[in-house]
Amino acid sequence: DNKTVQKLRAFHVSSVVQCVVELVQNSLDAMATTIEIHVDMTKYFIQVIDNGSGIPPTDMDKIGQRHATSKCHTLEDLAHIKTYGFRGEALASLAEISIMEIISKHSDYYDTYCVIIKGGLRLQLGPTRNSERAKPGTIAIIRDLFYTYPVRRKMQSVNTITNELENVKKAVEILALINPQVAFTLVDASIDRKIVNTRKNLESVYAKEDDIQIDGFFSLKGLHIKFNEDSILKSKSEFPGKSKKNVLTKSLEKYPIFFIHITCPTTDYDISLDPAKNIIEFENWPKIMDLLSSLVTQFLLCHGF
Ligand code: ADP
Ligand code: MG
Repeated sequence: DNKTVQKLRAFHVSSVVQCVVELVQNSLDAMATTIEIHVDMTKYFIQVIDNGSGIPPTDMDKIGQRHATSKCHTLEDLAHIKTYGFRGEALASLAEISIMEIISKHSDYYDTYCVIIKGGLRLQLGPTRNSERAKPGTIAIIRDLFYTYPVRRKMQSVNTITNELENVKKAVEILALINPQVAFTLVDASIDRKIVNTRKNLESVYAKEDDIQIDGFFSLKGLHIKFNEDSILKSKSEFPGKSKKNVLTKSLEKYPIFFIHITCPTTDYDISLDPAKNIIEFENWPKIMDLLSSLVTQFLLCHGF
């Protein structure tokens, strides 16, 4: 309907981070359990390799077309979206601003297919005969991102490269945290170095009321400090002269970490407000907040607050 269409803002990829996130979300939608990301900021090169379901050959020739999605077929589907993608715009958008190559083997087919798109031109399309049975999965390669937008690249300096890579790292870490079932690897391809993604020292939490469920991780203090006597001592030297309770309070103010995963009926929320899905509208927000507050209160009580 009109309201829904109006809510769908125009989509375009405007940063390396956004490109990485879109590709990784596609891998997650394809139920991948391993996702390997290679980024070379000096070459505007991004490669994401997954072991997901792959793309069926019949869908390969739609790759790069706007609104080509396998995730949403009817307007009713919009109310029941369980995938990151549903608009079919990310790959189309990327194909316009880079040299895009998608190599994929679907679990139901023997052959591997490949498509390379540059400037709206389709340069190649499979099938590629496999000498041995290849495992299902997809490789998405983005070369020369923004080559059609030289202005976007002009500002490039050592500083911006480092910052952008740091942003990519953060984005991947967040995706890794909320998808603990998936093994993520991020490689800085310019120096061929793995940027390690270790799991953080977080406590898992869980609460459920009716059809709303919250699970996730809480931590009172920074990513590397555990709550044992040792770390309290360390914290004490950070905040000399404070009592234990004050040290903890101070720590809490300084680096609390909360990662929460809210599960509720798909009809209870609306993700179509913002293409990057940074804004989500919840029907039952007060109820979610109540559940969350009780979870936080309980957690703080357990830690002597
Ligand atoms: P959306 O994710 O919104 O559907 P995209 O442009 O991101 O749109 O992707 C277009 C389509 O390409 C997807 O709907 C999916 O069918 C297919 N696709 C893209 N990446 C992958 C992948 N890594 N694994 C399987 N299918 C993929
Ligand atoms: Mg997508």
